[in-house]
Amino acid sequence: MKSLQVVTPHMECIFNCPFCIAKGHRHNNIFINNYNLNFDLWKSNLIKVIKSNDDLKYIVITGTNEPMQSKDCVSNIIDIVRKTDKDIQIELQTHYYKTDEIYDRIDVVAYSISDIRLLDKIKPMGKIQRYVLIMTDSYNNYSLTKILELIPKTVKQVTFKKLIDSNGVNKEIDDYIQKHSINTETLNKLKKDIDEYHGNISIRLDLECMKCEGRYKIFREDGMVYDNWED
Ligand code: SF4
Repeated sequence: MKSLQVVTPHMECIFNCPFCIAKGHRHNNIFINNYNLNFDLWKSNLIKVIKSNDDLKYIVITGTNEPMQSKDCVSNIIDIVRKTDKDIQIELQTHYYKTDEIYDRIDVVAYSISDIRLLDKIKPMGKIQRYVLIMTDSYNNYSLTKILELIPKTVKQVTFKKLIDSNGVNKEIDDYIQKHSINTETLNKLKKDIDEYHGNISIRLDLECMKCEGRYKIFREDGMVYDNWED
């Protein structure tokens, strides 16, 4: 396992993104919150997972709500990972655009941005700054060149992420995604432009971000490792 997604304890999200796939799981994100109820168990399990996976290179801090709502947990994960294996790269996935000193302790701060009008409004932080562009219709008819012009020059990694529906679990989200995904013409043009891009920004297109197999495992607030988001 090269990558582990560590999930902060679930709570109602401060954002209410209409495409939120976290609201599209049959388990409704209900897991025992051992981070709060049994911190020692949660911590020792996390350390065990890190130590028993020599090939682990990346810890991605994420959530089924905004992870910065549990800043204490983000901070604890950073401390535990740094003490256990200093070579592991830590990434945070966030919609929280305000500056925060905790971002200085993270290797990659990945800002999820679903509205193109925000690209030039954020002051990105982190040793490596990544923009994760959530492909809503706000990106329609924009070329790769135009999008890159809007992104601050300090951002060195850009991921284009396709919206993923809940496959019927949450009709409201699925309807939104059907109506507000980027159009096929723009997506195809972006795919072609990304293939042909040879500039100094690392750019990738993620068409299946929720697919874990062969990519990553998940460590939840109950202190257990899961193979996929539906388990
Ligand atoms: S910030 Fe993330 S978890 Fe919260 S509503 Fe938006 S997509 Fe869902």
